[in-house]
Amino acid sequence: MFKKILIANRGEIALRVQRACREMGIQTVVVYSEADREAKYVRLADEAVCIGPAPSAQSYLHMPAIISAAEVTDAEAIHPGYGFLSENADFAERVEKSGFAFIGPRPDSIRLMGDKVSAKQAMIRSGVPCVPGSEGALPDDPREITRIARSIGYPVIIKAAGGGGGRGMRVVHTEAALLNAVTMTRSEAGAAFGNPAVYMEKFLLQPRHIEIQVLADTHGTALWLGERDCSMQRRHQKILEEAPAPGIPRRLIERIGARCADACKKISYRGAGTFEFLYENGEFYFIEMNTRVQVEHPVTELITGVDIVVEQIRIAAGEKLGLRQRGVEFKGHAIECRVNAEDPYKFTPSPGRISMWHTPGGPGVRVDSHAYTNYYVPPNYDSMIGKIIVHGATREQAIARMRIALSEMVVDGILTNIPLHRELMVDARFMEGGTSIHYLDEYLAARRQS
Ligand code: ADP
Repeated sequence: MFKKILIANRGEIALRVQRACREMGIQTVVVYSEADREAKYVRLADEAVCIGPAPSAQSYLHMPAIISAAEVTDAEAIHPGYGFLSENADFAERVEKSGFAFIGPRPDSIRLMGDKVSAKQAMIRSGVPCVPGSEGALPDDPREITRIARSIGYPVIIKAAGGGGGRGMRVVHTEAALLNAVTMTRSEAGAAFGNPAVYMEKFLLQPRHIEIQVLADTHGTALWLGERDCSMQRRHQKILEEAPAPGIPRRLIERIGARCADACKKISYRGAGTFEFLYENGEFYFIEMNTRVQVEHPVTELITGVDIVVEQIRIAAGEKLGLRQRGVEFKGHAIECRVNAEDPYKFTPSPGRISMWHTPGGPGVRVDSHAYTNYYVPPNYDSMIGKIIVHGATREQAIARMRIALSEMVVDGILTNIPLHRELMVDARFMEGGTSIHYLDEYLAARRQS
């Protein structure tokens, strides 16, 4: 096992990885930007290295600074967390070439899955069902593009091969709007992701977002750890996740889960990963794979008892997964609410000093956050400052516990989206379960009207 790991991230996930390391008796090196100098987890680390000023491009995305920090501290492995460099194949490659272990998949797996066109092709080859669409990137010939759209049937969605974070997508309802939409998405994709390739998919009208968590070791074992329902999204950004997904027959989940584990074996995948699907009328359609730990991993941890971050570290050290698929059991129901430093009505970011931070407790309540009273939320990064995760024997009990947790939580000095979560926990449609990916946007539009 590694003696020392460098954590190439910040915020709650830096603390989450640090906790896993400490539990395993591994020393930690935290890298931080000038904006995160006072964060508590920086002080809790065995060693901390400032890697640059606040802007991410000069710190958390600056590969040479991170690799030198690993060199000067004699770290053996680098955990990239999520976001930042976690899905950057060049970074993974540089980490490995510099002699460190990358706690994540092999660089070529990241590259394969990072391009959504090649990812989809690999999934089709591995027997994972995909959204009907163009075979690969769209050609230049406008007549050919029109023909493809007709054969898929409107509405269609044009998506950037290199897209991410809900950007680089455009829905097209009529043939009249098609070619212009392709041109616009191409030029935006070229500017934003450095790759103008786009592809086309059928636009599903009322799908749910259901994803499968996988773990694969380097000895040929791949497991799936159940599903998560992440349909509650504002502008394609998840805000609340739960496991299991309400109302989906177990046999369908088991079938798709087994396909994902098989696909991991076929592409020799290593580490933790997530297969994201849209689910509509009893069918799963693959949209993309995330080759890293996800924000919402704790809901899976609570229903399976598996520590996903510990497993990532073990796999990177070359250990065998101790678990077999038959040993993976699902118990109860878990829900996660992402706490964002933002206006709960206008959704504008609300960075600043937290004058009072009080977290909930009690049975089945877990809070993953690096924040505390007097913590300053820097304006430079993502607005998520923590996650409240609850577990209950049933979905009803989990919702009841989340309501209590949200009522106990106090954050003063900045605005957060906690009031929105409190509303959702008593919303009739949420309580029923199984809302589509459009539900929250529709809910918010109706809320603006009233
Ligand atoms: P990103 O990498 O930017 O997150 P995804 O491919 O995961 O992109 O899609 C993000 C979101 O966009 C999905 O969760 C879903 O809400 C919507 N979406 C993507 N593809 C489709 C589709 N074919 N039909 C309907 N909605 C889609």
